[in-house]
Amino acid sequence: MEKLEKRKKRSAVLALFTALLLGTATLYGAYTLPSQVSKKTTSSFGECRNSNDLAYTRFHAGIDLSTNGFENTNIYATEEGYLWKIWVNHENYGNAIYIMHADGIASVYGHLNRFSDRFLPVIQSAMIEFGEATYMEIAFSPQEYTIRRGEIIGLSGQTGTALAPHCHFEFFDVRNDEYINPILYLKDLLEPPAADLKIERVRIDGENQNVVENGTFYFSSAIPKIEINTRLSNRTGQGKYGVKTITFFVNEAEFYKIHFDRIPREMLENGDTVFGEGSNHSNYWYKLYASLEEKPIVVNLWKDLSTFPDLAACRIIVEDDWGNLKTWNFRLRRR
Ligand SMILES: [Zn+2]
Repeated sequence: MEKLEKRKKRSAVLALFTALLLGTATLYGAYTLPSQVSKKTTSSFGECRNSNDLAYTRFHAGIDLSTNGFENTNIYATEEGYLWKIWVNHENYGNAIYIMHADGIASVYGHLNRFSDRFLPVIQSAMIEFGEATYMEIAFSPQEYTIRRGEIIGLSGQTGTALAPHCHFEFFDVRNDEYINPILYLKDLLEPPAADLKIERVRIDGENQNVVENGTFYFSSAIPKIEINTRLSNRTGQGKYGVKTITFFVNEAEFYKIHFDRIPREMLENGDTVFGEGSNHSNYWYKLYASLEEKPIVVNLWKDLSTFPDLAACRIIVEDDWGNLKTWNFRLRRR
């Protein structure tokens, strides 16, 4: 990826400092849905994405809002704030807008075709300086462009890496250096997908097996490595969504838990800690083991265990962004 270019010496640090001074939290208030041609999402937070060279997996840092397949639909600022950054021609995000809000949380709008006319003079002068096709980050000071909630900030598109036109939307918490699941804020404005939550397959120490309710599964390793293939599948067979929470109980105690409400920025390219072999943007093998405990992994007894019970009553509960649950009970027995 090309190095970031900054127009003159606009200071993002100054912008951040001002945001911190402004203080009080405004999140969980009223929001405007960034794309209003549809109330549907097409991807969820934390889903598997492959790196561009397919060498590793990463996490989806936001949600995808449907534009019903259209380009050039209005994109609205979700909350008041100021224009913080603009990315032009980013490899993944295409053209993207960052708006900083009073609580140090930025909203991000990706794959845009066009920016608001208000911002064009700055963008055009940067293009003259650096070239039209170049990737550029343009940072702004808080005084330059105040943004109202619901203001049209650009038009949707399919720039960068996108399989179809849509609006990629993120919340990034600058203070904690973490991405936040936007569903936590926008849930009431969106329509849950007509989809079923399923646990499709299980892999035990690499052996792919059918999921059988109350079934007994055998292992011979010291501590079994369990992976489940689960997703929220659209009834039309089109969409496939990642899940929000997976909790693995062993003998009624929480043994392992993955929870996608926040992902630290430093973990974003580290999808392989959660996603097993064969995972991609529509096929999610979630590992219920890892050598570290870092969000989105919030409970991990696996890494500290020296031996696993010879016979264990197990339960896996999967939850999606909309509160739907799927429970699977089974037994693990040592061979
Ligand atoms: Zn996206």
